Amino acid sequence: MAKILTGKEVAASINEESKKVIERLAREGIVPCIGIIRIGENESDISYEKGLLKRCEAMRLNVKKYMLPSDVSEERVIRTIEEANEDENVHGILIFRPLPKHIREDVVLAHLKPEKDVDCVTLASLAGVFTGRKIGFLPCTPEAVIRTLDHYGVDCKGKKAVVIGRSIVVGKPLAMLLLGKNATVTMCHTKTADLPKEAKEADILIAAAGKAGIVTGDFVKEGQIVIDVGINVNEDGKLCGDVDRESVEPAAEAITPVPGGIGSVTTAVLVSHVVSAASEQYGM
Ligand code: NAD
Repeated sequence: MAKILTGKEVAASINEESKKVIERLAREGIVPCIGIIRIGENESDISYEKGLLKRCEAMRLNVKKYMLPSDVSEERVIRTIEEANEDENVHGILIFRPLPKHIREDVVLAHLKPEKDVDCVTLASLAGVFTGRKIGFLPCTPEAVIRTLDHYGVDCKGKKAVVIGRSIVVGKPLAMLLLGKNATVTMCHTKTADLPKEAKEADILIAAAGKAGIVTGDFVKEGQIVIDVGINVNEDGKLCGDVDRESVEPAAEAITPVPGGIGSVTTAVLVSHVVSAASEQYGM
């Protein structure tokens, strides 16, 4: 039966590191602050925001919310980003994506200051991921996957990693980070010819497709580490991942749960980026 790799433990160790920096900043009278830009009332954005606000409160971070209506103009979104850029009391900015269809994401996001880009949405920050250079911050969810593997002592070197999903938010940057850890990486997507066959060859299988339960027992081999990034709502209205735990657990070596897995680590990573952004902006 698979070992359950909970996110709680990983998040706790990241939060401990952040707390030390928060205390150092507090001695200088600085409270790290995240600016949250949300457009519209998307349910999953609101649910993520709630979790984030709770975490920020527990870590004593300030939050400044910028709430915009779903029919907001592109100009107003840009003005809001610039306002947050110029506010020296806001150290990191999170913009919920995807943005509404009438807003050109690349045009709008280009206005975000790289030093405040705590979730790697600007092309400049992404260039850092793809070149392996330290430019800005890593994207929170891919970093959360790597921190989880590191925390549980999974050495990627020479291992075959298969990533299901090729979005610019999760799949593609994650593949780059896994390459950086010396894994041999295969990326799968909707046009992959034989998904179960590709998946079964993995030592480390990462599901980031956003399709409830697509990873079943026939994707998995003995000894495999399965990381479930997916966040979906099932027919009963409950949160679930991309992995069908019932059929995968008997074969896999270890698996991350949903909820309580990569999602909680992602929030801890985001907080750590805001804290680092604050300390870098004060030259500490
Ligand atoms: P996306 O929809 O932008 O991309 C999904 C990718 O999966 C696409 O590249 C697509 O080709 C691939 N895909 C979809 N269905 C597939 C199938 N049946 N077979 C093979 N490939 C398939 O989604 P995203 O933003 O990359 O997010 C993916 C999932 O991760 C979602 O469930 C999302 O909610 C979740 N997510 C979780 C966190 C977290 O903190 N845990 C953060 C971001 C996203």
